Amino acid sequence: MAGVTPGERIPFIAGNWKMNLDHLQSIAFVQKLAWSLADARHDYGVTEVAVFPPFTDLRSVQSLIAADKFELGFGAQDVSAHVSGAYTGEISAAFLKALDVPYVIIGHSERRQYHHETDELIAEKVAIAIQHGIVPVICVGETAEDLELYGPSAVPTSQLRAALSLSEGATNVVVAYEPVWAIGSGQAATPDQAENVAEQLRYVIAEVLGGEVADATRILYGGSVKATNIAGFLRQPNVDGALVGGASLDIAEFSSIAQFRKHVGT
Ligand code: PEP
Repeated sequence: MAGVTPGERIPFIAGNWKMNLDHLQSIAFVQKLAWSLADARHDYGVTEVAVFPPFTDLRSVQSLIAADKFELGFGAQDVSAHVSGAYTGEISAAFLKALDVPYVIIGHSERRQYHHETDELIAEKVAIAIQHGIVPVICVGETAEDLELYGPSAVPTSQLRAALSLSEGATNVVVAYEPVWAIGSGQAATPDQAENVAEQLRYVIAEVLGGEVADATRILYGGSVKATNIAGFLRQPNVDGALVGGASLDIAEFSSIAQFRKHVGT
């Protein structure tokens, strides 16, 4: 795509804890992770790092990060499509904003699969996050069956078009390409596979949000990312980081993933 300047996109390493670590565990974990990154002289201006804990941890993580002035970022794993009211169990974007939550994962394949989230609902969640000044990390990705039936990029591009359909003026989103067959399977996509889909996703962003926004948008790869394979993904021109599940729960491993620039030759 003309005008893509990958150098201007700060790589983003995001750890999705899923339903792991309670609020007490989250405090110890974030402290150790921040120290581990400090020991490695991690430069957050060069590679942004954030954790995505469960809702009940957010207050603890936010207070710790603010009190200790950690540069580590954080986000939520989901948000309600509603502003407020009789929606038992839901968490609104306004509540997240009140906790200074900068990011929220939306449309993770586990929410699509186990909670039957549709493209329409995901579009509403993306819109409400943006309206509240929270950056959505929009997850898209094909199942093994989709891959077989439609090829690698048809489903992720259509999911992204749908997710952005109520947010045409958006200027700040993150997209995570996560092939469902690669999540938690130990079988990551190849860097070429990730790059090919990421390139198509960038075209969709350009179509819906314009070329300038597309150039500035970070597209992450997710699915069985580890310290041993991260560097290959980050060498791709359209892959700007990773959404990491299982490996984000291991401090040494996650810290090493964030240090991907040191993995010469991997
Ligand atoms: C995820 O669930 O977002 C994910 C990428 O998981 P894993 O890294 O464990 O494959």
